[in-house]
Amino acid sequence: MIDPQTVTSNLAEVREAVARAAEDSERDPAGVALIAVSKTIAADGIRPALAAGQRRFGENYVQEAKAKWPALREEFSEIELHLIGPLQSNKAREAVELFDVIHTLDRTSLAASLAKEIQRSGRHPTLLVQVNTGEEPQKGGVAPGAVDGFLAECRDTHGLVVSGLMCIPPAEDPPSAHFGLLAAIARRHALPILSMGMSADYPAAIQMGATHVRVGSAIFGARQPKA
Ligand SMILES: *Cc1c(COP(=O)(O)O)cnc(C)c1O
Repeated sequence: MIDPQTVTSNLAEVREAVARAAEDSERDPAGVALIAVSKTIAADGIRPALAAGQRRFGENYVQEAKAKWPALREEFSEIELHLIGPLQSNKAREAVELFDVIHTLDRTSLAASLAKEIQRSGRHPTLLVQVNTGEEPQKGGVAPGAVDGFLAECRDTHGLVVSGLMCIPPAEDPPSAHFGLLAAIARRHALPILSMGMSADYPAAIQMGATHVRVGSAIFGARQPKA
C-alpha cells in the first residue's frame, strides 16, 4: 500500500498543478473540480486524502464503491461520489442510490433505466454523457455524430436532465484535439460540465476548458495490475 504521507504530498502537488493550469489559461482555479480517482484503493489509502480535505472521489465499479463508501461517509461528511466507469443497466438502481454524479450515460437502454430509478428513488444524480471522441470500438460512449440525437432523446423521451459531457481520449493520440471536440459539443448545447483530463493530461484538459478532472495514479500511485 502507498504510504499516507505520499498520498498527502501527491494530493498537494496535484492541487497546485490544477491551480497553476487554471491560472495559466486565465481561468478561476475554483472553476476546476478535482476528482480523486480511488478505484482499487482500499479505505486506508483513501483516508489521508479525506484528512487533507479532499471530498470529491471517483470510482469505476458500483460493487467496489458500495463496499467502501458507505462506511467512509459515516466518518466524513460532504463526500461527493462520481461514477466514472461503464454502468450496466441492471446496476442503475444501486448507482442512483450511491453516486452524486454519473459520468457514463451513453446509450438508450441506460437512459431508460436511470430515468426509472430516478423517478422511483426521488434522488437526482447529476448526469453526464460519455462521448467516444476517438470512435474506438472497445470504448464506451456515444459517437460524436450521434451526441445531438442522444441528448434530445434523453431529454424528450426519458425526461432526463444532462448537465455535461465526459471523454477518455485514445491512449495513443495527443489528447488536446479530443478535449477541444468535447468542449465544442458542450458549448453547442450550453452544457456547463466538462469532465476530461486524467493524471497524464489534466493540465491540457484544463487549458481546453475542463470543469472536472479525474486524477488517480498521480495521487494514489500506480495501480496494481489486475491478477
Ligand atoms: C482510472 C480512470 C481515471 C484516472 O486515471 P489516472 O491515469 O490514474 O489518473 C480517470 N478516468 C477514468 C474514466 C478512469 O477509468
